[in-house]
Amino acid sequence: MPLRHSPAPERPLRRLPAKVAVFVLLALAVRAGVVGWGSLDQTRGFFRDVVEEALAGSLARTAERLDAGLAAALREVEQSAADPILRAVAGRDAAGRAVPRSALHTALARAGGEGGSLDALWLVGPDGAVRASHGPPPYPREFGRGLLAPGLHAVRHDGRSHALAVAPVARSDDGVGAWLVGRIDERVFLRALPPDSLPGVGRGYVLDADGVILFAGATEPATDASLPLESLPGAGPFEYRAADGSARLASLQPLGHLGWHVAVVAQLDRGFQPVLPVLWRILLLDSVIVLLLAALAYRLTDRIVRPVWSLWHGARRIADGDRAVEVPEPPGHDEIGELTRTFNAMARTLSDDQVEIEAAQRQLRTQNQALQAANEVLAQLSITDGLTKLHNHRFFQDHLTRELKRVGRSGEPLAMLLIDIDDFKRLNDRYGHSTGDAILVRLGQVMNANVRENDLLARYGGEEFVVLASTDLEGAIALAEKLRLAVLETPILVDEALRLTHVSISIGVALYRGDRKAFFLATDRALYRAKAEGKNCVVADGESDQPDGLAMLPG
Ligand code: GH3
Ligand code: MG
Ligand code: MG
Repeated sequence: MPLRHSPAPERPLRRLPAKVAVFVLLALAVRAGVVGWGSLDQTRGFFRDVVEEALAGSLARTAERLDAGLAAALREVEQSAADPILRAVAGRDAAGRAVPRSALHTALARAGGEGGSLDALWLVGPDGAVRASHGPPPYPREFGRGLLAPGLHAVRHDGRSHALAVAPVARSDDGVGAWLVGRIDERVFLRALPPDSLPGVGRGYVLDADGVILFAGATEPATDASLPLESLPGAGPFEYRAADGSARLASLQPLGHLGWHVAVVAQLDRGFQPVLPVLWRILLLDSVIVLLLAALAYRLTDRIVRPVWSLWHGARRIADGDRAVEVPEPPGHDEIGELTRTFNAMARTLSDDQVEIEAAQRQLRTQNQALQAANEVLAQLSITDGLTKLHNHRFFQDHLTRELKRVGRSGEPLAMLLIDIDDFKRLNDRYGHSTGDAILVRLGQVMNANVRENDLLARYGGEEFVVLASTDLEGAIALAEKLRLAVLETPILVDEALRLTHVSISIGVALYRGDRKAFFLATDRALYRAKAEGKNCVVADGESDQPDGLAMLPG
């Protein structure tokens, strides 16, 4: 039957199209991953360069503002140190005059006035002891000698670092009578630190010598308390991981002579965030393209493989003996189409050949049957006498050979009856040869009706018949007598005038005694004797070959 539709292949996932699609999917996905990762890395690097540059600029500007703020603060202290009251206090010991305490406070309040850079002021004696103070706590009771030098100093007090501006308060004789120490207001730092060094990304810091963040110029509270200064290289922008695990890029430089640092830090991850949706979109688009291409690869491979599968299926059906196979031809004139058309042509040729072969086989079978039938007829003819339809002489000889073997083994008796029609020549002469033939046929029928099925009656030749009977001599004589009488008593039609005649036969009987030739001679001799004794009688070969030994039954 033509194969109109290819059966669906089993286990579609193990088919070639699925494998090709998976391969394309993996190959493109790997490529997309590598390209994506590469571009991500490149974008990040580019972004880092941009941030780095921005950081450097921001740092320089911040440091400049801070330096200016600190210098202004120092100038304020220096100018305040020139206050006559303070100078008077400083020179008190030398001059021996006391300055009223209220005047001293007024002087300090003036120095640390509103809008200044200082949030506290101390008048410190040369021994470091605080003589007077102004401003909010904490109030140190004394300062270390190391601090008592003009300029900016950093000091730790009450658990945190402070920046101090120190200026000598000159006595009237120009000696240093005291020191004016101003604590620099945090607003100086906060003003200098940009609230957002880089929009949405950067943040300025002032760090103490340990990296602890003292001031953070950010609109939102600082997430980190310090920067890991000890693990950072000395100069240049560097990347580090903050406590929350995010990547940071920092640029810092020393701040004046305080031992502090000014730092600008950018959150790389956060800065990179706006890029991520773009990258995600690209990745999504890439994934869709990869899936589409994989689906396309599946369809394309399926279009190639499906006809091949049909061809394989058709070939398998041909191999299984089905000749009427026609694979559906794919549209188009590509290689697969040509292959399918050629396959179908081949299948048709095979089918036609098969029809011819089957017809030839049928004919051969018929002819074989006819030949067999003819052979059987021939075989039958070869052992049948043409006239009487009894077994012929050849068959008799073959049968005798078999019988001699059989009785040789079993020891059973075997007798031969040689029958000769009496005066047959005369019958021929009187009624003609065709009547003679008819008489031979009739006598054959009569005798055949009187022998047992196991006995063999054959035409021996001419007007002689022979019987082989598996019986002893007595039985054989009885059989011979029966045949003789049957023949004798059968009236035979001899011409068209419906004249009847009777025919007699003479029979010689002998028993097989172990020698085939002697068997024949004995039977022959007995028949000869029967003829000699006057015909129409049965003569049996006796125990001996002597004439006396012959038994003769009268006709
Ligand atoms: P006897 O009693 O001594 O046997 O005399 P007979 O005439 O039968 O003896 P013989 O053997 O001399 O003659 C046999 C005859 O049988 C000779 C032959 O013409 C005839 N004969 C043999 N075969 C056939 C046959 O097939 N058809 C016909 N019609 N005659 C045959
Ligand atoms: Mg004869
Ligand atoms: Mg005869």
